[in-house]
Amino acid sequence: MFIINDNYCGWIKNLSKRNNIKVIDKNHKCDWIIIGAGFTGLSAARKLGNLNPNKKIILVDAQLAGEGASSRNSGYLVDTTLNDGFSSNIKIKDYQKKVDIYERGIVSVKNFIKDYLVECDWNECGKFFASSKLKDEKKLKKFSEALSNLNIHNQMFFKKDLFQKLGTEFYNVSIFTKGGVLLHPGKLVRAMTDNLPENVELYENSQLIKWKKINYQIQCIFKKNEVIAQKIIFCTNGFLKSLGIKSDYNFPLTLTASMTRPLTNKEFKSINEPNEWGVLPVRPMGATIRMTKDRRILIRNTAEKRNPNYFNKLELAKKKIIHQRGIQKRFPSLDKDIIDSTWSGIVSRSGNGSQIFEKIDDSIFAAGCYNGSGIGVGTLFGEQIALKANNQNTDEINIIEKLKKPNWLPPQPILSLGIKIKLFYERLRAKSEI
Ligand SMILES: Cc1cc2nc3c(=O)[nH]c(=O)nc-3n(C[C@H](O)[C@H](O)[C@H](O)COP(=O)(O)OP(=O)(O)OC[C@H]3O[C@@H](n4cnc5c(N)ncnc54)[C@H](O)[C@@H]3O)c2cc1C
Repeated sequence: MFIINDNYCGWIKNLSKRNNIKVIDKNHKCDWIIIGAGFTGLSAARKLGNLNPNKKIILVDAQLAGEGASSRNSGYLVDTTLNDGFSSNIKIKDYQKKVDIYERGIVSVKNFIKDYLVECDWNECGKFFASSKLKDEKKLKKFSEALSNLNIHNQMFFKKDLFQKLGTEFYNVSIFTKGGVLLHPGKLVRAMTDNLPENVELYENSQLIKWKKINYQIQCIFKKNEVIAQKIIFCTNGFLKSLGIKSDYNFPLTLTASMTRPLTNKEFKSINEPNEWGVLPVRPMGATIRMTKDRRILIRNTAEKRNPNYFNKLELAKKKIIHQRGIQKRFPSLDKDIIDSTWSGIVSRSGNGSQIFEKIDDSIFAAGCYNGSGIGVGTLFGEQIALKANNQNTDEINIIEKLKKPNWLPPQPILSLGIKIKLFYERLRAKSEI
């Protein structure tokens, strides 16, 4: 699979251009090779490099480091999520484990930004799960009970308060949780790229095409050259399947998002001058929408099974119209034409919402499949898979390994058909929330 992304991501456009790009243009031998330089791969490389200052570690990415989904997301460092079947108390123990992982993910990111003095528009402003449908109050009440049972502070807000806080009268009911963080994902992942240990060699625009284990070594084939490594860690998330990693347990989905230009003072006044905020949908395919620190509105309201994964310019223009509609129905006073960038990004999903964290054999490791929680969980899993690959054990590894494993997925074409039907049904249910 050829990996290519559009160039229109609003977060990436915000960053300075990099000029220190190295590609794989000769053969190498190394102790470790890490494939994929997003939150997971960069965190694995940082940990492994610091633990083994005398070992040679190669980190490769098919495009520029961090410029895959890690820069293309909505920037929610989540403490809780709703759309994974945990709206009631029924599976409270499973949900507790999930929330524990989210918390540890937040701690991992917090430690990184503290240790490396990172500025990434970090805002501990919490987040809302909101719906325009009063009918969803019942679901939110159940969710609130589940959260309260886990001592997670949460509060219900209704239309009037939501207008004060968000500047839109669109939402009728919501739950606010205090623990979530909003940030600039591009700045965060760029800081991870800029702060790799000295013994980590980063090669970009270098796609791993094929790999195999030969005796005790791993042979990695790139366009013209090869790398022979003692051990390998796969951190390619939406591209795990295409590299033959846990192929029957994960699949890629393509999401699209848009960001407006900063609102003018007049526009900002017209929507009540709210502080920075983030809203997640109550219905799975509804819109994620946030107001950024610099008064831009970001919206993500599409998710699809695609082949190839990426969208061309024309297709993105069509998605922009869907994003525009989503903004207009929430903020009718704003101009129609205020979207400044529209982009796509690939995430990885499993059938049951579980993640991949695995020692495949003594020299092959993999981590990924976080759906919408990869900022924190990817950082945590990257660090922990490096420790595991370094033959160390931690409380975190024990906890992660006790989580439910992804369930087996049927082969093609049944899988694609099943995903398409499920997405279609969820889109229908969330029609008003898109
Ligand atoms: C629109 C959108 C909104 C999202 N919102 C949120 C959110 O608010 N909060 C949140 O936590 N998560 C969110 N996510 C998900 C989050 O972005 C991912 O979970 C996270 O980026 C995963 O990090 P990663 O490092 O595992 O994978 P990625 O960031 O996808 O990095 C994998 C890297 O592997 C590289 N690669 C793939 N194949 C190869 C190969 N063959 N050879 C070399 N390199 C290869 C890719 O180029 C890529 O850079 C969102 C995602 C999208 C697309």
